[in-house]
Amino acid sequence: MTRLAAEGIDVVRVTYPDLIGSDRARDVLLDHLPAVCDHGLAFCRAVYHTSPQGDVVDVSGGLDAGLPDICVRPDLDTLTTLPWEPGVATCLGDVTDPATGQPAPESPRDLLRAVVDRCAEQGLRPIVGPELEYFLCDAAPDSPQGWRRYSDAEGVVYTAGLRADGDNHLLRTLRLLRDLGIGVSNGNHEFDGGQFEINLTHSEAMDAADRSFRFKSAIKELARKEGRLATFMAKPFNGVGGSGFHLHLSCADADGGNAFDDPSGAHGLSATARHAIAGILAHAPALAALANPTVNSYKRFGPDTLAPWLIDWGLDNRSAMVRIPPERGSGSRIELRLGDASANPYLLIAGTLAAALLGVRAAEEPPAPLEGYGYDTARSALLPSTLPDALDALEADTALTEVLGKGFTASYLSYKRDEVARFQRHVTDWEFVEYAYHL
Ligand code: GLU
Ligand code: MG
Repeated sequence: MTRLAAEGIDVVRVTYPDLIGSDRARDVLLDHLPAVCDHGLAFCRAVYHTSPQGDVVDVSGGLDAGLPDICVRPDLDTLTTLPWEPGVATCLGDVTDPATGQPAPESPRDLLRAVVDRCAEQGLRPIVGPELEYFLCDAAPDSPQGWRRYSDAEGVVYTAGLRADGDNHLLRTLRLLRDLGIGVSNGNHEFDGGQFEINLTHSEAMDAADRSFRFKSAIKELARKEGRLATFMAKPFNGVGGSGFHLHLSCADADGGNAFDDPSGAHGLSATARHAIAGILAHAPALAALANPTVNSYKRFGPDTLAPWLIDWGLDNRSAMVRIPPERGSGSRIELRLGDASANPYLLIAGTLAAALLGVRAAEEPPAPLEGYGYDTARSALLPSTLPDALDALEADTALTEVLGKGFTASYLSYKRDEVARFQRHVTDWEFVEYAYHL
């Protein structure tokens, strides 16, 4: 505390992810930090059950239990100053249910912790490298959504500089993220105007999830500071591509080597890597419920999108759901291209590890890798095409939900099925344009 005060810090922002991976937090005056570390901060458990519109969804343990508390304790190991908010430092919070003293069942961080422990029992230490895409928007009070893309330049993929980023958003953002200390390495303009990709370094699964969570919060906060909107929605605009959350996954072996590497194995991959791929393919429909968590997510999928559409894998093939990047040796890894940017990083990583773990446990073998251009429904099965289908697949995949936990799964399904029901009742703009004039 003395050190923080000497650095001019007088507020600590304690933050943690809700079920959809958005940040919930409280600002604590520095003088009160020791007491907060002792007792924790009380929040209503329904923080996990609140929709983006602010309604409390009826999830067991919330409304039905009289809206009890959860307790959030600062994890001071994660403390870092907020470079764009003088006097403020921020850290993650650990969540317990005061009734049981155990982690709260819906806490995404604790879910991931439990899955990482299950991997450890199998001798697996997962290493994850996240890649996230997002659209930056300017205010457009006259447009129906209130926002338009920051740029509608075309043909600007893999550029940096003023060609498609007239206000140097990327440079400014990269430097601030570096100062936040969350392991951001590089960024560039993505395929469509106003779309950016920023890559994080790889590290152990929990650390990678923490950094992805903090990254998404930081990008949204920095945009707000400029009166802009940064969105990680999967497919925010018609006529342009969606935003992915690609995960690079490998496993460390006991000596710190790469357990996915085997120069003598098929394609230079170890049996563990092949089993992990097979597990991810086998559980992909259920995994989609976590990797593609919104009604909107399924509009990103499709042929010729650079997003997946089919459940397949390929060697350095960007039309596949699982791509094996060309590096081998210490760089041997798989790239899961399934997730979209709206995924909660903890749930996406937990679901992916759970699927990989099941493949390793069962020593499953994947089919032959895709060759050439993908998106051929004669060769591979389709991913779910709607959120309700993915939620049904999750519910039916009892092997996966056993790893994720029945309590978590039940809460997640209730929460997400409420979202689906609200959407299904809502009359969309498309329906009015399509039908109103002629019918
Ligand atoms: N935007 C594409 C997606 O939704 C990915 C583009 C790329 O290959 O980086 O997954
Ligand atoms: Mg990209």
